[in-house]
Amino acid sequence: MVDDCRELDGLRAEVRGFLAEAVFTPRCDNWMRGVDRDFSRAVAERGWIGMSWPREHGGGGRTNVARLVVTEELLRAGAPVAGHWTADRQIGPSVLRHGTPELRAELLPAIRRGDTVFCLGLSESEAGSDLAAVRTRASRVAGGWEIDGAKIWTTSAHHATHAYVLARTDAGSARHAGLTEFLVDMDTPGITVRPILDLVGEHHFNELLLESVFVPEARVLGVVGEGWAQVTEQLAFERGGVERYLSTYPVLRALTRAARRTPDRAATERVGALAARLVALRRLALDLARAIDGGHATTRLAAELKLLGTDFERDVVEDARYVFDVCGTEDGDGELLLDGLAAVPGGAIRGGASEVMRTVIARAELGR
Ligand SMILES: Cc1cc2nc3c(=O)[nH]c(=O)nc-3n(C[C@H](O)[C@H](O)[C@H](O)COP(=O)(O)OP(=O)(O)OC[C@H]3O[C@@H](n4cnc5c(N)ncnc54)[C@H](O)[C@@H]3O)c2cc1C
Repeated sequence: MVDDCRELDGLRAEVRGFLAEAVFTPRCDNWMRGVDRDFSRAVAERGWIGMSWPREHGGGGRTNVARLVVTEELLRAGAPVAGHWTADRQIGPSVLRHGTPELRAELLPAIRRGDTVFCLGLSESEAGSDLAAVRTRASRVAGGWEIDGAKIWTTSAHHATHAYVLARTDAGSARHAGLTEFLVDMDTPGITVRPILDLVGEHHFNELLLESVFVPEARVLGVVGEGWAQVTEQLAFERGGVERYLSTYPVLRALTRAARRTPDRAATERVGALAARLVALRRLALDLARAIDGGHATTRLAAELKLLGTDFERDVVEDARYVFDVCGTEDGDGELLLDGLAAVPGGAIRGGASEVMRTVIARAELGR
């Protein structure tokens, strides 16, 4: 599938028009912090959730390059897209790939309407970088499974309608084997959400406790025991999006305005160097979207984008200290910088630490 450039330009203009009329406060990291169900439903009404899923499964039938145009504009604007981000980015594609026809029919239309908020129950206190160490267990019971365990750092669990849960279904199996993926309704008895506040006192992640939580058989995602292979594939969707380099874009936009206000050469050079890196990152994101459209594996490209992107986001905030200092700030710049400062430390950890990204890239290079 190839996109017509004029068509993509038209789509970009359409998204910009939509954003110009939408009412929200631009923030850094708003794809993770900004849950606004009405905003997500408005995005859905435009057909921009599930837009790259096949039409025969109720999707928009557009390319991933077209989706890139939309997600890029939403993030550049700092829009509150967290309500639908996870479902659109990785749950929908995983259900498309591994879900039964019944699961697809149940969940994909709801995701496309913006009616679901998914949280990700992967990490545990002893299993973050090393997901093979997951201890949450699921035991077979009549009609399905019973899940017991504790997840941590679960973003948006307090807003979620559904949780994706990775659990061990075969206690005696080797570390990578015996894991299974489940999609769980958040109003199921036995689920408790406990808030964890971040370094600026905001509540976006949680502990997710599961005590004898019944999950019907129909909510197993894919094959029992094949969770490791499936989640590895899903992580490429999680790591390879625009949110890995545009989380601090609202600060970069403010820096560009600031650098124009004064002739300070060092400030101009810093902003120019960031702009040049952004061009390279956008190119990488475009390569990745084209690779998905071509049905190619994206694990390595996604790890590269995440590694380089989170370094870039950090440097935007580092350079802001200098540029704002010499060029001054406008109303709102201070709040954006604070947002950026709070977002940046998590960037190199969430979705897989930078050291782990280096290992993924090195393994791909060595063919292991
Ligand atoms: C803002 C934010 C939001 C998050 N949201 C979610 C969420 O919604 N759902 C969810 O399940 N999780 C979430 N997480 C958790 C995140 O995925 C984990 O924190 C991450 O995978 C790292 O795991 P860990 O914290 O257990 O650190 P550890 O695995 O203990 O690692 C600590 C450090 O050790 C080093 N390290 C670890 N392993 C290796 C290795 N193999 N090679 C080299 N160095 C290594 C790295 O420097 C790493 O940063 C979130 C985290 C953050 C910061």
